[in-house]
Amino acid sequence: MSELKLCQGSRCHTYNTKDRLKGVKGSKTFQTRRRSSMYYGSGNFCSMNCYNDWAETFIDRAIDHFGRLTEPKHLTEQNAWQKTYDWNSNDETLYVYRNGITKEERPLTKQQYHDQNYTLNTS
Ligand SMILES: [Zn+2]
Repeated sequence: MSELKLCQGSRCHTYNTKDRLKGVKGSKTFQTRRRSSMYYGSGNFCSMNCYNDWAETFIDRAIDHFGRLTEPKHLTEQNAWQKTYDWNSNDETLYVYRNGITKEERPLTKQQYHDQNYTLNTS
């Protein structure tokens, strides 16, 4: 049996759903959900609600802990290449690298398009 993880939502147990109600008659409680896998917040939350509850409670402390951004980041010409594709008049897929700043386009092969390591960006 796979290990069950607890939803990290700070208010998960306060949502009155049937699946959260556990225990025997007379001593039932609503409990934090346990799941073998969860889809939200890198697998830590059972729902977007729980993810948002956590964020509302802890996000400021988390950002301060890991470093709050104090200046805008810059995407330069050298790093503004993005893979994209289009179709030609024969309905063939054309893969291209498009620079978001200069608007320059360079052709890509399908292999290069799908290769996560292939990039024109310099860092
Ligand atoms: Zn939850």
